[in-house]
Amino acid sequence: LRMYIGRGTKVYLLPLRHRGQVSFDITALCPDGAWSPEVSRDDVLATVEGFDERLVAITRGLDMAGVNVRAVYDIDPVETWHSDSVVLVGDAAHSMLHHQGQGANSAIEDAGALADALREASSVREALARYQAVRKPETDKLQAISRQGWSEEEIEDVFPGQKPADAAPKE
Ligand SMILES: Cc1cc2nc3c(=O)[nH]c(=O)nc-3n(C[C@H](O)[C@H](O)[C@H](O)COP(=O)(O)OP(=O)(O)OC[C@H]3O[C@@H](n4cnc5c(N)ncnc54)[C@H](O)[C@@H]3O)c2cc1C
Repeated sequence: LRMYIGRGTKVYLLPLRHRGQVSFDITALCPDGAWSPEVSRDDVLATVEGFDERLVAITRGLDMAGVNVRAVYDIDPVETWHSDSVVLVGDAAHSMLHHQGQGANSAIEDAGALADALREASSVREALARYQAVRKPETDKLQAISRQGWSEEEIEDVFPGQKPADAAPKE
């Protein structure tokens, strides 16, 4: 994996060895809150302006018909993950941006920690509290790290007066 970061934009090159392909992924702040924003080649070129010329050349050569454009969102840490009998795991508890590749990994670790807590605690209520106490400090950190690269000023510039989560389309 290679990642290039600048001005709120991240560019990844991810080898897909089993397919003999390379995934070329650009993540940028976008004021359009749609799940699938309309993006032209010129928009994408403007996003990578100032990056290494090889990245600009790859972008210029993209077949836009084969480019998948989708929105990604994260959430602020959730204070409580459980009631006495219902509990959140995975993205429902701590959805994070994908930049550290930790979302699915965290969901799997949640499941393991929850199983351990249910085995060890003397009640469901105690198990759920124990599970949260073990996992939340880890995922709070991962959520913060996964947001890094976009400063508060950059977020304010694109989403004035809003938090990124507020930019999601309302159902
Ligand atoms: C672009 C991108 C790249 C990523 N790369 C990585 C990576 O490299 N490594 C990594 O670890 N993670 C990565 N992730 C994150 C990972 O995909 C998620 O963290 C993970 O899928 C979360 O699993 P989950 O089971 O909690 O939620 P989900 O996978 O979202 O599962 C929730 C399920 O519930 C279903 N559902 C929703 N509402 C209802 C309903 N009302 N009734 C019934 N079913 C419902 C949904 O259809 C879905 O199938 C990436 C995410 C993105 C967007």
